[in-house]
Amino acid sequence: MFRKKTVRDVDVEGRTVLVRVDFNVPIQDGRVADDTRIRATLPTLNYLLEHDAALVLASHLGRPKGKPDPAYSLRPVVEPLAALLGREVQFATDPAGPDARAKAAALRPGQVLLLENTRFDPGETRNDPEFARRLASLGQIFVNDAFGTAHRLHASTVGVARYLPAVAGFLLAKEVETITRLLEAPARPLVTILGGAKISDKIKVLHNLLPRADRLLIGGGMANTFLAAQGYRLGSSLVETPARETALVLLDTYGDKIVLPVDLIVADRMAPDAQIRRVTVQDGVPDGWMALDIGPETVERFAPFIREAGSIIWNGPLGVFEIPPFDRGTIAIAHLVAESPGFSLVGGGDSVAALRQAGLADRIDHISTGGGATLKLLAGEPLPAVEVLEDKA
Ligand code: AMP
Repeated sequence: MFRKKTVRDVDVEGRTVLVRVDFNVPIQDGRVADDTRIRATLPTLNYLLEHDAALVLASHLGRPKGKPDPAYSLRPVVEPLAALLGREVQFATDPAGPDARAKAAALRPGQVLLLENTRFDPGETRNDPEFARRLASLGQIFVNDAFGTAHRLHASTVGVARYLPAVAGFLLAKEVETITRLLEAPARPLVTILGGAKISDKIKVLHNLLPRADRLLIGGGMANTFLAAQGYRLGSSLVETPARETALVLLDTYGDKIVLPVDLIVADRMAPDAQIRRVTVQDGVPDGWMALDIGPETVERFAPFIREAGSIIWNGPLGVFEIPPFDRGTIAIAHLVAESPGFSLVGGGDSVAALRQAGLADRIDHISTGGGATLKLLAGEPLPAVEVLEDKA
């Protein structure tokens, strides 16, 4: 189903391979605070090393402004990466300048060179052909394994593919394949769960998912706008007034698939020590109060759909989960998804964070490493960095 060539389809022996990885990891006090993204690239990196390639690794980290900024250096990645690979990792102090050129040229099969942050060059985010050509000149084959940035049209994700044979790594291939399969041939019923702040960020996702899904369970700020459109009182809750029209059209077209909250946890302010109450949507949110989570009756209403799902796609928290106790609804849903026998896909930083917080991450079939890229695929849109890879014969 993945129509692009992967590392298995090219001969890498004795070659220097430029690999775009997603090492955009959290750094605290000069150390990598979470190495999930580094680990996720190991299957591809180990495969290439076992096949006698030399590796030049390119990644961005954070959002430096097109020039070197020590706060965004990739140097802290060297040590954990070397430990995970069980071999030395060299570091180039520029992404495609003199140091990178000299070190890449001297690489032997089995050796690994990590380049400095690609966004230290202004050409990266502009997809400047000159910067892309300089990057490409560091290797003989391009492998993209950075799913997290596959929706970006940058020099290291799209530009380089013009100058080198370009194929996918295992992580990129698996992410795209899994999400595409769930959209095109899901085990049914397909139950989708959407939360998060706003409808407007996910309009395209709603339009693409609703025709395919058997159910769409909605929570979080998103649900408020649907409830407001139906005439319920929402007090001072986050409601996107301009999106009410869209909500009504969706309810009109897909009303039998959409499942909305029946009760809400409301508070007089957004703080852990706020006054808190449960209200039914019929009662409505009192003036000056706001809905910050789904209530227990809503969890009960959602539960059978999740338990009986053949496949589940979940994106976005069902409440303000960063501030307990408004994380309860999200955590209850996380347990239901983890326990469901259906194939589960969870994407988006917040829902994944909630799963980890609840210690349930290893009970999910597929946790996506990319937020923006996942949403783009769920919206049915192509990923620019995947489009430029070579097609399978
Ligand atoms: P998103 O990036 O669209 O997935 O939105 C995630 C954000 O939505 C989180 O920071 C949540 O705190 C926020 N959120 C979820 N439910 C609500 C709600 N009922 N009111 C306000 N913000 C919410």
